[in-house]
Amino acid sequence: EPVLLWLRRDLRLSDQPALIAAAHEGPVVPVYVLDDETAQHRKMGGASRWWLHHSLKSLDAALREKGSRLILRRGKCEDELASVARSVGASRVHCIRHYEPWWRNAERAVAKELDLNCHDGNYLTPPGSITTGSGEPYKIYTPFWKALKDVMPPRDPYNRPQKIEAPEKWPASDNLVDWKLLPTKPNWAMGFDDWEPGEEGARKRIDSFLGEAAEYEGQRDLPGVEGTSRLSPHLHFGEISPTYVWHRTADAGGSVDVFLGELAWRDYAQNVILQYPEYASKNARDRFDDFEWRDFRSSAARDEFDAWKQGRTGYPIVDAGMRQLWATGWMHNRVRMIAASFLIKHLLIDWREGEKWFWDTLVDADYGSNACNWQWVAGTGIDSNMFGRIMAPLKQSEKFDAADYIREWVPELAELLDDAIHDPEAAGCRPDNYPEKLIGHKAARERALAANRKIR
Ligand code: FAD
Repeated sequence: EPVLLWLRRDLRLSDQPALIAAAHEGPVVPVYVLDDETAQHRKMGGASRWWLHHSLKSLDAALREKGSRLILRRGKCEDELASVARSVGASRVHCIRHYEPWWRNAERAVAKELDLNCHDGNYLTPPGSITTGSGEPYKIYTPFWKALKDVMPPRDPYNRPQKIEAPEKWPASDNLVDWKLLPTKPNWAMGFDDWEPGEEGARKRIDSFLGEAAEYEGQRDLPGVEGTSRLSPHLHFGEISPTYVWHRTADAGGSVDVFLGELAWRDYAQNVILQYPEYASKNARDRFDDFEWRDFRSSAARDEFDAWKQGRTGYPIVDAGMRQLWATGWMHNRVRMIAASFLIKHLLIDWREGEKWFWDTLVDADYGSNACNWQWVAGTGIDSNMFGRIMAPLKQSEKFDAADYIREWVPELAELLDDAIHDPEAAGCRPDNYPEKLIGHKAARERALAANRKIR
């Protein structure tokens, strides 16, 4: 009897415990269901859809090399999986467990219809499994990271199955192109050309990163240097297992501890959404529910939000980041922090608006990681209250040597010298085609601190 392999954000053949288990039991029917209904307002954003299209294509090709293939269905997971199961006479399903609230609902719904077997495999350790001495899940990153290090490496990564047996008859499948996952606006995804979605692309990324991993600690904060792994979309879509990434980098030697610690942030975020499933829409620190964010019905706030999205704030480092995001679906981590802080504290716009924009435009948009980082910058989260720490974008830009990064993404400023490019307005050389600052740093800082005092 064939078994189904239900794929979601685990689009790989190596170190894929659900695939190993399914291949062990009999003929395998790999299925991907595009289920926008279950995800509702959390359905995948535009940049993620672009990635998904290419990743599914690559996975199907890899399966075909092994005499298998990928079945595509669109609809509610439980309905589509039940329909595929009926048509091939299967009753068992293997999948990797996911922690987004809608995926947990979908797992419950599928388990009512079929014999569902969930495996862990998308995180270093199963979210919820690392607990404090009293058995509570961790709320704060640092003790979580220490406890995680004590249990890593938890196991050897799984291998690729030798053989994936095909069923006697394949069920019907949609055509990937009919899903129209690619953007229709011309040019939108031109800057995405550098990415190679899929398992092979992920392998190439880690191979090229390993040579640089020893430099990570010194370079990771410099936006103008390619000093980070850029594995985030591959990890998000499960094209490479984090355990594999952990072991390869740890084995490479050198001071890779900082990198492993970043990888652990990804795990930590899943632990947070397991405890707070609505983390992307609710302030964890609830006194922020009374915070007076700028009123979005006013056109001034709307216009400034648009200027932020389009990279026209008059702060070169923020604008460079926002344009990099639009053009490539990715933004350097240091600049994500600066741009997020600018929206929240300089423009006093609710962090949830920024979170939604990132959700739509990042190729690595991840429910847990995005929400955790936004709440962390805002100071509304379960960790320390950072609201009062107002980042100075112009100083950050200088400190992290962003001049070349700005030249790349804000061509209007490309001719400016290093000492003028971070703040052309103050240097008296702002070109006419580059906007004035939406608000001065000092005024913004005072306004933000005053708003924060009101909720104390
Ligand atoms: P590297 O520095 O090479 O790190 C290796 C891996 O560790 C990353 O691929 C990622 O999986 C993980 N990681 C690193 N930093 C973090 C972090 N702070 N939180 C969680 N995981 C981390 N990351 C996402 O994957 N998805 C998001 O939606 C997302 N939204 C963010 C929103 C804001 C406001 C901020 C400040 C950060 C956000 N991040 C998000 C975290 C971080 O910016 C990216 O993971 C990182 O820039 C990805 O680049 P990289 O793969 O080169 O990272």
